[in-house]
Amino acid sequence: MTENDDKACRYHPEELERIDDPDVWVDMDDWPEDAVDWESFKEDVPEGFRYECCDGDANAPPCEIRRHFNWELDPDPAQEV
Ligand SMILES: [Zn+2]
Repeated sequence: MTENDDKACRYHPEELERIDDPDVWVDMDDWPEDAVDWESFKEDVPEGFRYECCDGDANAPPCEIRRHFNWELDPDPAQEV
């Protein structure tokens, strides 16, 4: 699902965290302790990451889907329940 639907906003509300589990990172012998760009590994080792919001790994689809508000048609979205 890669369609770009500008009517919807899909995202993870919480941060993607690296899991500190040696079993997951067994292939990464030379894991740099203070790697600053560990996010670059998320494509190779998606299971080594977790979204706080939904416990999904790095490949998890965004768990929050909300409609973009159209301020002309829907000037007061706060009243939507
Ligand atoms: Zn999520």
